[in-house]
Amino acid sequence: MVELAINGGKPIRDNYIVYGRQWIDDADIEAVTAILKGDFLTTGPAVDQFEKKLAEIVGAKYVVAFANGTAALHCACFAAGIGPGDEVITSPLTFAASANCVLYMGGEPVFADVDPDSYNISVEAIEEKINSKTKAIIPVDLTGRPCEIEAIMALADKHNLVVIQDSAHALGARIAGKTVGSIAHMTEFSFHPVKHITTGEGGAIATDNKEYYEKLKLFRTHGITRDEEVLIKNEGPWYYEQHELGFNYRITDLQCALGLSQLDKLDHFVERRKEIAEQYRTGFLNSELLVTPMRNDTRVVSSWHLYVIRLNLELLTVGRREIFEALRAENIGVNVHYIPVYYHPYYKKLGYKKGLCPASEAIYDGIISLPMFPKMSDEDIDSVISGVLKVLEYYRK
Ligand SMILES: *Cc1c(COP(=O)(O)O)cnc(C)c1O
Repeated sequence: MVELAINGGKPIRDNYIVYGRQWIDDADIEAVTAILKGDFLTTGPAVDQFEKKLAEIVGAKYVVAFANGTAALHCACFAAGIGPGDEVITSPLTFAASANCVLYMGGEPVFADVDPDSYNISVEAIEEKINSKTKAIIPVDLTGRPCEIEAIMALADKHNLVVIQDSAHALGARIAGKTVGSIAHMTEFSFHPVKHITTGEGGAIATDNKEYYEKLKLFRTHGITRDEEVLIKNEGPWYYEQHELGFNYRITDLQCALGLSQLDKLDHFVERRKEIAEQYRTGFLNSELLVTPMRNDTRVVSSWHLYVIRLNLELLTVGRREIFEALRAENIGVNVHYIPVYYHPYYKKLGYKKGLCPASEAIYDGIISLPMFPKMSDEDIDSVISGVLKVLEYYRK
């Protein structure tokens, strides 16, 4: 058997491949440079243009862009009216921001377990957690695969709840013929460099609801308004009023110029991610040592932010950690998405305990994210497949 790199053998790749990264081209650089030469660095016309274009793409009436996706989630929780005493149901298999935004508003995150096949929040598990204190649901489109948003919306209607879809992974995804961003009350996107498009840091909320739209804009800028229609009095042209305790969560024209230019490439980015996922799937088709993620079908179309394999630990002599370290030694930049949120010491301190969501915990024990970004070459993909099979076969029982 071939010697693993971790045991002194030759790595499958000569250079290290990361798990995710941006794709910046000359058009992006020109777009940002033009802003630097212009009049507005922060809030200018590019912010408005970016919001309008994104709204068109995701099929929403309004989009409000923010300094980052976490700020967008915080603002959405404000707009939804979440406060002390309110419970908000979310998935434990996500980035901490999906639950932290509830804590920012003084609310209480409640974790509902995920479906063992899709790794997305289970609709039945949500239903079990709903009680008189429940105010909202924050379902997550993990890895870019849309959650069961239509069933979740029906549940929310029945119980009068606000749905904030965390679609940080799912720009360009579709479900039941609808674009992600056109279904939930509010949908959040992130433009961190590993996500589908980047603005450096950045995020947005898409909504059809005018009241949410106004609240999102208010909270983004200190809770301050200059809108003559809502001012309590008007002392003159300089006058403005603070109506809420908001934040400075503004996005800049520099970021939005980059975002606009990146949106031109979104379709291409998503298509390439789909190709990579398909190439991985066929590459792993004959291995019983791992489980590949659910495929796209006519109803559910993932935009593949991440490609997460699950190890078949019963057939392996070692655990995820050894496999992970062996893959890194092969120069394959694997990662893990995610540590269940309530495992974090901060959440433990709040009283959350291991055992809360058994399916999520079991999934966490066996998952590894493989490199997935549009700029990967076919050779890169092949080397990752070979590296994974090399390591897994070595540790076969
Ligand atoms: C990236 C991400 C966010 C937002 O993150 P920012 O870095 O603040 O833009 C929110 N939720 C999930 C699941 C994410 O992956």
